[in-house]
Amino acid sequence: MTVLAPRTVDELERILADSPDHTILSGGTDLMVEVNLHGRRPTAIVSLRSVEELHAWTFDHERVTIGAAVPYATMEVGELAGLVPALAQAARTVGSPQIRAAGTLGGNLGTCSPAGDGLPVLSALEATVHIRGNGDRRDVPFADFMVGVKRNALRAGEFVHSVSIPRVDGWQGYAKVGTRNAMVIANASTCLVRDRSAGRVRVALGAVGPTILRCPEAESWLAANSDLRGNTPPSADVRAEFSRLVSQASRPIDDHRSTAEYRRHAVGVLARRLLERSYQ
Ligand SMILES: Cc1cc2nc3c(=O)[nH]c(=O)nc-3n(C[C@H](O)[C@H](O)[C@H](O)COP(=O)(O)OP(=O)(O)OC[C@H]3O[C@@H](n4cnc5c(N)ncnc54)[C@H](O)[C@@H]3O)c2cc1C
Repeated sequence: MTVLAPRTVDELERILADSPDHTILSGGTDLMVEVNLHGRRPTAIVSLRSVEELHAWTFDHERVTIGAAVPYATMEVGELAGLVPALAQAARTVGSPQIRAAGTLGGNLGTCSPAGDGLPVLSALEATVHIRGNGDRRDVPFADFMVGVKRNALRAGEFVHSVSIPRVDGWQGYAKVGTRNAMVIANASTCLVRDRSAGRVRVALGAVGPTILRCPEAESWLAANSDLRGNTPPSADVRAEFSRLVSQASRPIDDHRSTAEYRRHAVGVLARRLLERSYQ
């Protein structure tokens, strides 16, 4: 097998433009499962390990920009965790320390599983995916990036360069449920952002539909029926109706991990709990 190790983004771009069928390897925590367990046989690998620019993150007063090859271990602690707490919470739930040392947001986006823990966070925070390839740059809102189960908007020869996440004045959190407390793929997950300046709440659901789902009806109903700018928590009735509307927005299926009924119930409970935490 050919393994290429570009050192710059330009070099990476040239390799993929010439050979769009080459397979990108970032942390390898999804790809190597495909190779070792599912018989995938890439003819050539392009490793992102030496492309320094993709391992960097930056921020200014408007947004946080995270390179595609930044590992979860960097997101879960320190300054980056303080800037995007929901992403830190999601990162802490990914696999084991070994998986978090290797696995990246670029890989989560490359695989685009509805259960990917980074994806509801990118959805609720209305992140933009920065794409490079074929001598071009495209900025795609996360809402348009994920187009189906394990399908994304990347074209041949393109790769995820980075993700930028607008900074929010308000609370943000992520929670998931699985069949055990650690090393588990989500059966249902929820990210909630309470944007105090805008008086809005944004809710994104994972593992309960073919893509990450937003909950526009629940979001606008809550904005009309509670004080999202202030410190007064919504009443129990309002929280219960919000939970019901979130459940109603889900489109879960029964599979080997869980039932549709449980998943629908779980996202409503997670959203209500996150809303309550946003006032504590
Ligand atoms: C034991 C175990 C536990 C896990 N637990 C979780 C979990 O709890 N939550 C969760 O969300 N995931 C989990 N995963 C899956 C995996 O860790 C994540 O999806 C991770 O984000 C993948 O990142 P990676 O860098 O390892 O991707 P890789 O495996 O390197 O790549 C994955 C796919 O994305 C493509 N790709 C990678 N980078 C780019 C890029 N920059 N541009 C375009 N395409 C790219 C690759 O070609 C490949 O198709 C687990 C995996 C294992 C093995």
